[in-house]
Amino acid sequence: MFAFQHQTGRVDLAFTDRHDGVSGGAWSSLNLGTSNGDDPDRVAANLGSAADAFGVAAARVVRMSQFHGRDVAVVDTATADAPVPVADALVTADPGIALLVRVADCTPVVLADADAGVVGVVHAGRPGMAIDVAGAAVEQMRSLGATSIDAWLGPRACGACYEVPAAMRDEVAAVEPASWSTTSWGTPALDVAAGVRAQLERRDVRVTDLADTTSMCTIEDDRYFSYRRQGQRSGRLGALVRVRP
Ligand SMILES: [Zn+2]
Repeated sequence: MFAFQHQTGRVDLAFTDRHDGVSGGAWSSLNLGTSNGDDPDRVAANLGSAADAFGVAAARVVRMSQFHGRDVAVVDTATADAPVPVADALVTADPGIALLVRVADCTPVVLADADAGVVGVVHAGRPGMAIDVAGAAVEQMRSLGATSIDAWLGPRACGACYEVPAAMRDEVAAVEPASWSTTSWGTPALDVAAGVRAQLERRDVRVTDLADTTSMCTIEDDRYFSYRRQGQRSGRLGALVRVRP
């Protein structure tokens, strides 16, 4: 169910793996994505299981429709009953809800100021990192009163696997030099998580990269879903965060 789970002060956070759900095939089994062809009833059951394990009601989990942009949605209890916001980051200071970001190779980021009770999630793929969507989320959290922010980076394609054309590496690394990388077989690559980490650290956010202590590459490790490894119909992993009431 969870590749990583953590409590800090009033904040709970977790990153899912692909196990303990009810989906089959490429979605086997804890697919949290709704735009990859999986049966909506099974996805709903998976979201319900993940919410249960996380200790919240599924109806209180706020999701977003992600599009590789820089929009940050500030959400609260009322949002949980509203249409899903179109954004690549969610932030809240409302203990009545949990936040969910969904990924398969992109970098999932959880943000928290446990003392201020302000949390966020970010979908940082290559385009999102290049436009600093994580930085936009940090700014929005500070506008809600966050002063001391921690970040956790979860399962994603690593810099030794995420091959890109040389021109793309040049273009993205010109914006964020920390993302410049080479595959383990010697071709141009990007390390999106390294780019996100650099962006967050420049904003004085303390970053814990889960990949520093355990296997977190979605392409290399079959515990995770991977768009590159499994194709467009791959399942989606999730990261959850909430402020406990
Ligand atoms: Zn890798």
